[in-house]
Amino acid sequence: MEFVNAKTIIQTVKGNHSWFGASYNMNIYRGCNQGCIYCDSRSSCYQVNNFDTIKVKKNAPFIIENELSRKQKTGIISMGSMSDPYNECETELLYTRKALGSVLKYNFGVFIITKNILVLRDIEILKEINKKNVVNVAITITTANDTLQSRIERNVSSTSSRFNALRELSEAGLFTGILLMPLLPFINDTEENIVSIIEMAHKANVKYIYPSFGVTLRDNQRDYFFEKIGPSLMEKYISEFKDSYMCTSTNHKELKSIFISKCKEYGILYNMKDIIEESKKYINEEQLSLF
Ligand code: SF4
Repeated sequence: MEFVNAKTIIQTVKGNHSWFGASYNMNIYRGCNQGCIYCDSRSSCYQVNNFDTIKVKKNAPFIIENELSRKQKTGIISMGSMSDPYNECETELLYTRKALGSVLKYNFGVFIITKNILVLRDIEILKEINKKNVVNVAITITTANDTLQSRIERNVSSTSSRFNALRELSEAGLFTGILLMPLLPFINDTEENIVSIIEMAHKANVKYIYPSFGVTLRDNQRDYFFEKIGPSLMEKYISEFKDSYMCTSTNHKELKSIFISKCKEYGILYNMKDIIEESKKYINEEQLSLF
């Protein structure tokens, strides 16, 4: 871990808020040591040198408090788009927890993406935020199989423990979902995997699953991914996708149809508009004029 200077941390989302209704982005950490073989944040375009070393934005709690206090308008803050807010540094630093304290103080909502069950530590503060604004906790799950998961996402909580965390978050009255992404062609893009995840999600009382039936590959990220999957799978990728940015599962139409029908069977949401609308209904008490 190393500390880096940051002038600002909270960025306004431009456009029509289609990503889970978020109006702002907050990334306290840059780089990540969790070793997901498909990680997009590793791509050269983001210019994160030495990606596997976590960079902590110096004075992040102070900057966040200051920036939120000056915002004219509240909204939902997305956390975790570039690095996991519950990485191992967070255990000691508590920067994400402190940021949530500021989110609560200034009446903002949060959309959290993580692969770590450390998020459970902050349930009580999330419940407090949820009395005033949206709390939407998404845990990424790419495979129902713990063994495969430990090979493609090496330093994160196991799939089964992530499902337990989702159950606990749901039982706490929070709006929870799964990011089922990426589905890696020839690796986890199977009917069996998708159906198992949906069934486990149903048992954990998860409200939505948002999928991507493929993986994006860019400079640097692609090299890392190919190194990890080995020569024979690499050859399959090159033969099927050449150097395409979007590598969509060859059977994506069939998989999508199975996914939709299974989600409907269990009443699990999968459409972004529906997810955003439903998340607002989970505010537990007084609502802001924002909605
Ligand atoms: S947890 Fe997220 S940021 Fe970290 S390596 Fe995995 S995909 Fe990348």
